[in-house]
Amino acid sequence: MHEILCTRCGAVGPDAAGNCARCGSSQVLAADAPHARKFIEERDARNRGAASGSASIRTQATGKVLGRALGRLFRK
Ligand SMILES: [Zn+2]
Repeated sequence: MHEILCTRCGAVGPDAAGNCARCGSSQVLAADAPHARKFIEERDARNRGAASGSASIRTQATGKVLGRALGRLFRK
């Protein structure tokens, strides 16, 4: 079935007379087109980036604790 990717709202689904079925935008791409896949991948990467952003804060906090522990070790 022919699906479209809306570059305005990001919805993927059946087209409504060539427009996005969700927001009605005509800024749509065929969902199986290479640049549409790229758009979806970049959007997913941004979503993963937002999720891993909070993880990296935890990693930094862990790094600070480790750094202090190592600092105490090396000062001895
Ligand atoms: Zn849309």
